[in-house]
Amino acid sequence: MMPRSWIVFAAALGFVAGMLVMAAVVAIFPAGAAVVTEPLLEASGQKITVKPTKQEEPSPVSPPPVVVPPISAVAGMEVEELRQRSLTLPVQGIRKDQLQDTFRDKRGSSRVHEALDVLAPRNTPVLAVEDGTIAKLFLSEAGGITIYQFDPEGHYAYYYAHLERYADGLKEGAAIKRGQVLGYVGTTGNAPRDTPHLHFAIFKLTSDKKWWEGSAIDPYSVLR
Ligand SMILES: [Zn+2]
Repeated sequence: MMPRSWIVFAAALGFVAGMLVMAAVVAIFPAGAAVVTEPLLEASGQKITVKPTKQEEPSPVSPPPVVVPPISAVAGMEVEELRQRSLTLPVQGIRKDQLQDTFRDKRGSSRVHEALDVLAPRNTPVLAVEDGTIAKLFLSEAGGITIYQFDPEGHYAYYYAHLERYADGLKEGAAIKRGQVLGYVGTTGNAPRDTPHLHFAIFKLTSDKKWWEGSAIDPYSVLR
């Protein structure tokens, strides 16, 4: 499940990346940098004057070429940062070797899953992967009963979906501790009735820190 605005955000990101590549190309191959073929030295009588070539003239200040790191390298830095936190697995009793990489699974014709599905019996406790705050308790058509948790610095959001129900007393804005029970595995939203599972996603928040906006990070790479 993914809010529609993420798709818009991803499209905008793609557009910006394209523009940056164009800017880099223009910076590397500027127009008007044709080689001047005038002779360097000009003999006139006994006097020799040195004419500066175009390239010896002080060049106008040009912006440094824009370096666009590959998307995977950026995501790799964030995966590494999150891996160092040794996050708690979000479903009680699950071992690392039971996790399966479902991040790039197709969902529908054009969408990608961008999350981790953890199969578990209905009502298995769902645990906070680290300390933080409850940014939003949200009921969505696709995700069903969901939780958006921010990390302590508000850099990342953890998203837990298809819950059977919330833990008693869970409130928006509440500070939570790593390992705290947030809710229970279920099939709310568009999860198959006979396949209870936690849909778990991680995304890097924008500077606005809106709970519904960010870029997806592969939870399997972080948790495995
Ligand atoms: Zn899922």
